Amino acid sequence: MMSSGSAALLTEKRTESMKQTAKVNEQLFKVVSPLLQWYDSHARILPWRENPEPYAVWISEIMLQQTRVEAVKPYFDRWMKAYPDLSSLAGADEEEVLKLWEGLGYYSRVRNIHKAARLVMKNHGGSLPPSFSGLLRLPGIGEYTAGAIGSIAFRLPVPCVDGNVLRVVARLTAEKADVSTAAAKKQFTEWVAAIIPTERPGDFNQAMMELGATVCLPNGFPKCELCPVSFLCEARLQNCVTEFPVKSARPARKVEKRTVLVLLDETGSVLKTALRRRPDRGLLAGLWEFPNVEGELSAEEVSQILHSAGLTSPALVKLKKAKHIFTHIQWEMTGYLAVVDHAASLPGASEKADSDLHWVGIDQLETKLALPAAFKPYYQNIKCFINKELRYESN
Ligand code: SF4
Repeated sequence: MMSSGSAALLTEKRTESMKQTAKVNEQLFKVVSPLLQWYDSHARILPWRENPEPYAVWISEIMLQQTRVEAVKPYFDRWMKAYPDLSSLAGADEEEVLKLWEGLGYYSRVRNIHKAARLVMKNHGGSLPPSFSGLLRLPGIGEYTAGAIGSIAFRLPVPCVDGNVLRVVARLTAEKADVSTAAAKKQFTEWVAAIIPTERPGDFNQAMMELGATVCLPNGFPKCELCPVSFLCEARLQNCVTEFPVKSARPARKVEKRTVLVLLDETGSVLKTALRRRPDRGLLAGLWEFPNVEGELSAEEVSQILHSAGLTSPALVKLKKAKHIFTHIQWEMTGYLAVVDHAASLPGASEKADSDLHWVGIDQLETKLALPAAFKPYYQNIKCFINKELRYESN
């Protein structure tokens, strides 16, 4: 049982927190009108804003979680031409959908879009559910995406808080909570939810994000002189904008060395290369890759691997090193190219040694199979090989 002293302390804390929320709400509420006026005259013209119907908003929002607006535009246009509606997307083959997403990364997101499209066709008559909770039940749709679709396409007064909005709110309120914590995100989301204007929820959410993306920039360089709400901004008034948002440093990325093998077979009528599927779980789950192993291998070690896989190669070409940065890990890759005859088996080699390799025509990499960006430099090497531009790298 709680002592009377502890209970009094708890009540005091609650009262303090309610007072702070009321103060913040009052302050943030004043932002709404000047922000919307600014948005009316400064909103960028973007393809998905022309006709903000639910499907287009959904696709654009997931794409925007991957990369910058400018990079998303061509992807969005291509996607809408290929799959103009949910029904065409639901009927598409997964390999085709992955290929269209190639270069955007985070392939689990596009797999979820595809899965969700099929569910919507099956359970919702082909239209995205027009409620926040209904949207949240679809694969890959979290609070942020449900907030974006709900407020922009269905005019629901629900918040949509991304990194841009967290930064803007942290500066407007000079709130010292660490924005990388779930508690701060929840708190900021509640503050935003309390001030959403019911007549223009989608515009308000987009205005907050737009302010963060174009004016209240990250890394200590906001353009406060252009900000429509600078006169209400606590961090600006206290002359300490560079101190916000407060964010704990991310743990350093793990560096992993890998050796990538580009195996080519010229014995048939078309040039083929060896690919394999990555495991169903974890990094780049289920995607195609060039065979690769952990560590930085020498040419002799690679020759031994090829030999034990039953593959002969007259010469190995050492390729330029490449680097790829994932969220939590960084690959530093060494590559070798070898021309092999995969049909010919060496005496003593295990019959199954290369059984996880799929030999595919190079044209399939161009048109059909999605290859993660990490392996693109090695795909370029194949093109150089075809054009006889491949340069040998010394060890
Ligand atoms: S005044 Fe500066 S720091 Fe404050 S919200 Fe505007 S751009 Fe951001």
